[in-house]
Amino acid sequence: MNFHSFARGIDVGAHSYLVEIGGSRIVLDAGTHPKHDGLDTLPILDRLHYDSADAIVVTHAHLDHIGALPVLCERLPGAPVLATEETLVYGEAMLHNSVNVMTAQRRELDIIEYPLYTHRDLDNLRPRWQALPFHRTFPIDEAGRVTVRFLPAGHVSGAAAVLIQHEERTIFYTGDLHFEDQSLCRRADFSEIEGRRIDAMIVETTRGDSPRRPDYTRESETERFLASILETLGRGGSVMVPVFAFGKTQELLVLLHQAIEEGRLPRVPVYLGGLGTKITHLFDKYADRSRRLMPGFQMLRDFPGLKRPAKKDPEPEYAPGCIYALSSGMMSENTVSNRFARHFLPNPKNAILFIGYADPDTPGGRILATNRGGEVSLNDRDGGRVMRIDCQIEKFDFSGHAPREQLLDFIIRQNPRHTLLVHGDEPARLWFAGELRRLAPQMQVTIPEPGMPIDL
Ligand SMILES: [Zn+2]
Ligand SMILES: [Zn+2]
Repeated sequence: MNFHSFARGIDVGAHSYLVEIGGSRIVLDAGTHPKHDGLDTLPILDRLHYDSADAIVVTHAHLDHIGALPVLCERLPGAPVLATEETLVYGEAMLHNSVNVMTAQRRELDIIEYPLYTHRDLDNLRPRWQALPFHRTFPIDEAGRVTVRFLPAGHVSGAAAVLIQHEERTIFYTGDLHFEDQSLCRRADFSEIEGRRIDAMIVETTRGDSPRRPDYTRESETERFLASILETLGRGGSVMVPVFAFGKTQELLVLLHQAIEEGRLPRVPVYLGGLGTKITHLFDKYADRSRRLMPGFQMLRDFPGLKRPAKKDPEPEYAPGCIYALSSGMMSENTVSNRFARHFLPNPKNAILFIGYADPDTPGGRILATNRGGEVSLNDRDGGRVMRIDCQIEKFDFSGHAPREQLLDFIIRQNPRHTLLVHGDEPARLWFAGELRRLAPQMQVTIPEPGMPIDL
């Protein structure tokens, strides 16, 4: 058994790995790097020879796992794409949106290699998709000796962890995971591997560098979030929540709907905007078929106060006393949340509430770091024009990733022979490596160097 990482570095982004087991070669994920541009967004594929894999497995539809899929598919024409049905549906929408973003960036930033793929390329990929339900074994080779099986990973709708087996040997890739229920997304269910021997476990480490407050509960964080909204509405302001289109938007809508139904929030208009609108529509289509809380609940149908922008006008109307759930989560240039900030930043009655990660190099990250009273640039490309922040800025922890203590417990309980730490910045991976060496000295622990094959 062998493992190769095609990731660009030891950080979060451009996830793509190859495992070789029982004569089969399986690619795990095909992500892009959110902080790079052009060809640098792709995993390093020099060592992935043409048509050299038997399958590509995609764990979920976030771009750091699926953004490079069309490029890998071109290089691996004989490999089917295995993913849950929901990942394929949401992933296709995310990839079509990426084509639009890349096309705009080619024009504005002169990145000549963009777009890395086209809408037609995506349409042509469809025959290669193989939707695989959770808990069903799928053969990779003709004899069926090497198999793949998806387990629910929590994190986001459709997200899967991957169990790969060949005879007595087992590899388990967690993908991104969460062990707690969110508003909509159910927690991971790994019960079928409990007590089973795992030879190699490939584990995400996103939160390894940030301990959760010991007194944290999702309920108390929700309380704090709702209190901020009430305070803002009470002084005649509006609330903007910049949210990732896929996952966070729908989690937020369900949270707001429940709070309104329970009388914890008044019946104020809630506006959707940006890519999140389209993805919410897709979530609603899967309301009955998804492994989630509130089965059957369709946000655009069953949430009376929810308003989506008219088709022709991608930006909602701005008014006081409203809540705006706008993509993107990091308020990146050329997105609705970025443009809408001009209504929010100058008005001390308003609030921008962050509920997800915002990289420090993005407009959202800069607003968080600067806070009220400071000045911030919303767009690097308009000559550095800055705006003063006069509105309230706050951040809340509604992470879809497992807290590090829970993840560490899981690894120790599962006790794989070899643990590979991926999907985390270096300090995050080093924390896990240090704890595992201390608490499970018998376990082999590796932080995979990109490009270096690892014997499992
Ligand atoms: Zn993810
Ligand atoms: Zn990820």
